[in-house]
Amino acid sequence: MDDSYYYGEGELRCESVALSEIAESAGTPTYVYSYGALEKAYRELDEAFAGLDHLVCYAVKANSNLAVLRALASFGAGADIVSGGELYRVMRAGFDPKKVVFAGVGKTEEEMISGLGERILLFNVESVSELEHLERYAARHGKTARVSLRINPDVTPETHAHISTGQGTSKFGIPVDEALALAGRMGEYRFLDLIGIHQHIGSQITKLEPYAESVEKSAGLVEELKRRGFDIKYFNIGGGLGIRYKDEEVPTPKEFVDAVRPTLEALGTSGTKILCEMGRYIAGNAGVLLTRVLYRKNSGGKSFLIADAGMNDLLRPSLYDAYHEVRSVNNGAATAAAGLVGPVCETGDYLARDRTLPDAAEGDLLALMSAGAYGFSMASNYNSRPRPAEVLVKGDRWSVIREREHLADLVKGELIPAFL
Ligand SMILES: *Cc1c(COP(=O)(O)O)cnc(C)c1O
Repeated sequence: MDDSYYYGEGELRCESVALSEIAESAGTPTYVYSYGALEKAYRELDEAFAGLDHLVCYAVKANSNLAVLRALASFGAGADIVSGGELYRVMRAGFDPKKVVFAGVGKTEEEMISGLGERILLFNVESVSELEHLERYAARHGKTARVSLRINPDVTPETHAHISTGQGTSKFGIPVDEALALAGRMGEYRFLDLIGIHQHIGSQITKLEPYAESVEKSAGLVEELKRRGFDIKYFNIGGGLGIRYKDEEVPTPKEFVDAVRPTLEALGTSGTKILCEMGRYIAGNAGVLLTRVLYRKNSGGKSFLIADAGMNDLLRPSLYDAYHEVRSVNNGAATAAAGLVGPVCETGDYLARDRTLPDAAEGDLLALMSAGAYGFSMASNYNSRPRPAEVLVKGDRWSVIREREHLADLVKGELIPAFL
């Protein structure tokens, strides 16, 4: 649990605000984010790179609320985007397009043109076909695209299979030898400027070795390209630094950078700026999902707490079997073996399975901790459930930063044709 969340005056607080006050006023389920925790995580990362020419980018997909983005832009962060929708968000939030990098294996024509139009810093290109399309669109619009090749360093990051991206068999990136060959052909592309190398091996990385190995490998490619006369101005080491959800031993940002510092320093000396793109580390522990217990029930010899939040609100437990700590908002000390489940009509709809949980009564408030990343951003309307509200706390102030969806939002854009 981040120190921005603590028990004070008998109840769980975020900064100086009681979570019960937010629940009373904004209702439940509601995501709550701590401005202080966002800032602290960003600054820790930024300071870890001290002494290196660097830019910490925020991976927008972790939590893409405009207010969260505005806060990060104000700290000086860059942005790592994976879609035209995220480009729209970061421009609305006030990011400097010169600090925006665009990743993703399946960028469409429209998305590439938007990126060219905003003159973003870098397109992280993942295949030869993508390079050819980017060249064509850049030529058509009379623009030069700054390109960074995403390398697949072929390492296993030892994280969940769904979120590991750096193995030779994954859909991501270009193998090192192919990247070298491709670089040799860059002269054919008149509207592309190869100025970066990018890698990202996966998410929720808790072990330094595979990550350090991949950085060394990719850095070797940067050096080789420089020897061949390419001006590689940017080396993007990716994101993925893990956070503690339960009892994981996770490296600090300083340990993460120090594990590869001599390599990064050598590149820095020859004029290469270091980029990273962290999502979970920045937003994960800054947020919680507040939910109210609707019912208690015993079934098949098991106890269940049925919450007003479900898998549509927080998908990670169902999708990745992820663990989120469950805290009692009113600081009830008693615990009991139970499952915390939602109202969605799926057996997989659980928030905490077979756990020792606060022995909450009907009507009690619970907080699912570490839900700031890949929480709301993965929420859906499944079962026609309006998505939850989002709240940002700063000191003793708080504000709704996204309204709870209304019923009318559920059918927005749907049409009943005249032939019915
Ligand atoms: C998702 C993603 C990230 C961020 O990962 P985190 O684990 O949230 O830090 C960074 N880079 C790319 C290319 C991504 O797809």
